[in-house]
Amino acid sequence: MPAGTSMSGLRRELSDAIGDPDRVSEGDSIRVLHSADLSPNPPRLPDLVVFPTSIEEISAVLAIASEQRVPVTPFGAGTSTDGHIIPLEGGISLDLSGMDRILALRSEDHTATVEAGVLRESLNRAAGPQGLFFPVDPGADASLGGMAATNASGTTTVRYGAMRQQVLGLTVVLPSGEVVRTGGRAMKSSSGYELGGLFVGSEGTLGVIAELTLRLYAIPEHVIAAQAFFADLDSACEAARALVAVGASVNRVELLDGESMRAINNFKQLGLPESPCLFLEFAGSPAATEEDAALAREVVEEYGCSEFAVETDHTARVRLWQARHDITFAIAEAQKGGRLQATDVCVPISELPRAIRAARETADRLEIDVAIVGHVGDGNYHVVHLFDADDPEQARRAKVLKTEIFEEALACGGTCSGEHGIGIGKIDELAVEHGDLLPLMRGIKQVIDPNWIMNPGKVLLPDPPDHPR
Ligand SMILES: Cc1cc2nc3c(=O)[nH]c(=O)nc-3n(C[C@H](O)[C@H](O)[C@H](O)COP(=O)(O)OP(=O)(O)OC[C@H]3O[C@@H](n4cnc5c(N)ncnc54)[C@H](O)[C@@H]3O)c2cc1C
Repeated sequence: MPAGTSMSGLRRELSDAIGDPDRVSEGDSIRVLHSADLSPNPPRLPDLVVFPTSIEEISAVLAIASEQRVPVTPFGAGTSTDGHIIPLEGGISLDLSGMDRILALRSEDHTATVEAGVLRESLNRAAGPQGLFFPVDPGADASLGGMAATNASGTTTVRYGAMRQQVLGLTVVLPSGEVVRTGGRAMKSSSGYELGGLFVGSEGTLGVIAELTLRLYAIPEHVIAAQAFFADLDSACEAARALVAVGASVNRVELLDGESMRAINNFKQLGLPESPCLFLEFAGSPAATEEDAALAREVVEEYGCSEFAVETDHTARVRLWQARHDITFAIAEAQKGGRLQATDVCVPISELPRAIRAARETADRLEIDVAIVGHVGDGNYHVVHLFDADDPEQARRAKVLKTEIFEEALACGGTCSGEHGIGIGKIDELAVEHGDLLPLMRGIKQVIDPNWIMNPGKVLLPDPPDHPR
């Protein structure tokens, strides 16, 4: 909080602006809930948590914050994993959970317009009766505004794409309080610079996403899930690479290594073989789906798949995918205690086997027990482990692991983040990956957020670092 800011004065001004003092909180328990995530980054309390329920209220809050140079950290569902929502410099945590209305579901257009705080599962519950669904499925029940802000993806991205591909239009409140609209309801547009794509993935550093218009898809007629088990991790990765290379029509290609399988067995009592496994899914007409599954089986068997278990029963499939989505919690339970580190590199699919082999070797060399899991159809994988962040040796080794995995991914033509974003933890990696772009990125930030009030300390740091707020 800037020196000289009167907390009671600010609180009063914000309460007057949104007309409800109960939605401007300085209560300890609420501030604690907005101070930390799963990552090893130390918590930091916001000074105030504000709960807007309209675009006008967001605008009023940001105008006051801009004028008084008060930092603002947008907060969706708080499920991000790299310190994104930690208000590093205090100020306001802007909790969008009250912006939870589905404003329109257009079954003919296959689009929906939602407020930013709508959770992805709520959208699916509303769209399902119209035969539609929203495909992006990070394991957590995240908010659609938060998912756009991190350009989230998930198990079905190999087929439908990530958030950036789903966003047709946005209403964004800029740090000054000005409201702008990008895109629209049309399926495509070549109308000027694509600024919507700039806000997608900006992690709350450029403004607040207030509303989104998103693509929806028809729920497939028929779905088959399959699990392909392998004797070793390398064969599973080679099989995933080959599946994508032959152009097999797959909905999902997820890797769980032996450690991950052990963790979900213990967590969900599944009794599955505890060897590296590809979780696959095929969707479409019954005939096409059967054909796709048969082709996939042929391909993975060429790469040593020892068991190909097919599941068509809806309930069993849901249970299987829920287990996949719960993997982070399963690993946390298996490793007992400590803070979570989940790397998030993404490589070209042709390099996947090499990159994962190197990651496994690095973890073994550093004697860190890790689980490797990923959306490998996209070349995206997470090396996950828990460690004691207060133990200097464990912290050192965790950092080496993360750095070496990133360096290998970069050498393969990959990126430091496939889906989680930069947050606090990958600022250095972004600089290595895109150093030549940093001045341009800072220039954009400076134009949109000249006082650097939006989510300071994330994605980009000012240069010089003592940039005046
Ligand atoms: C168990 C588990 C599994 C996960 N699996 C995946 C996965 O498969 N794929 C994946 O992509 N992620 C995954 N994640 C990470 C997380 O769910 C995503 O990053 C998600 O997109 C975050 O959404 P959120 O609503 O929780 O956002 P938050 O965590 O609240 O915020 C994330 C960032 O966006 C900003 N923000 C939030 N709302 C807005 C807004 N309306 N306007 C502007 N900025 C905003 C915040 O300031 C912050 O920087 C997983 C997390 C967990 C806990």
